Amino acid sequence: MYALIIHGGAGPHPSKDYSKQVTHMGELIVKGQKLLEAGTSALDVVEAMIMEMEACGLYVAGKGAAPDEAGNFLLDASIMTSDAKAGAVAAIPAVKHPISIAKTLLHEPEYIMLSEASARNYAAKNGHTLIEDAENYYQDYKDHITPGNISKHGTVGAVALDLTGQLAAGTSTGGTLFKAAGRIGDTPLIGAGTWADQNVAISSTGLGEFFIQTAAAHDVAAQIEYAAKPLDKALQHSLDKIERLGGDGGLIAVNNKGEIAMKFNSHGMKRAAVSSSQAPIVRVFEKE
Ligand code: ASP
Repeated sequence: MYALIIHGGAGPHPSKDYSKQVTHMGELIVKGQKLLEAGTSALDVVEAMIMEMEACGLYVAGKGAAPDEAGNFLLDASIMTSDAKAGAVAAIPAVKHPISIAKTLLHEPEYIMLSEASARNYAAKNGHTLIEDAENYYQDYKDHITPGNISKHGTVGAVALDLTGQLAAGTSTGGTLFKAAGRIGDTPLIGAGTWADQNVAISSTGLGEFFIQTAAAHDVAAQIEYAAKPLDKALQHSLDKIERLGGDGGLIAVNNKGEIAMKFNSHGMKRAAVSSSQAPIVRVFEKE
């Protein structure tokens, strides 16, 4: 039994054409399916999915990251597995794959999260690809800001259950468009942007402050652990809390039974899913 969901952010604008993202996510989910069927771990599949989304510039993560108000590109990412291992980077400059650096941090015995230049030094020491010409590399965000059509957020994430029953979740972002200098959202925060335990793996996307205020990813997991809530209902409940605070966004989750759930209270959420009992699907605006 396996399951996989990816998301490309919950900020799509109804008037914009997302056909490139739909094609990309359609190819990616089939690739992920093949990896899981071949016995690849949930952790490696989550990393592989997010790396591709970071590299392509179609989403507000990695190459497509948006600048902050000072014009700097500072990236956030986190990853977690069902055996409670976690890694995260916050406000890291000029690296190709924040998610892979977060994954390397899973093996550090003494810390989980590194930030800013120190995180980049750590990435360099551990053989991760650095970006030397950041000014030129991070230019694709301009596609997200055609006049009258600003997509303020478009984080990417993935959650997976593998054939051995392991769960993993990961999330990566450039943050919200023109965010305040020094602002860090929910994406690198374990429990807000990303969570995985023995029951469920979750990735968040949306206006991060609301996901921090509600510890959104862990809030979903807590409902399942303490109240045995069905997956769909747990996601909806957490999103309702966010909505009551005035926030919007979405959540994706897979559980240890191979069930999948994708919920959002924004206009849409770019997303794709597959499982041993679900043929690949790709959606942007339609609700399930
Ligand atoms: N949650 C991200 C942040 O607030 C943005 C997003 O999901 O698009 O930084």
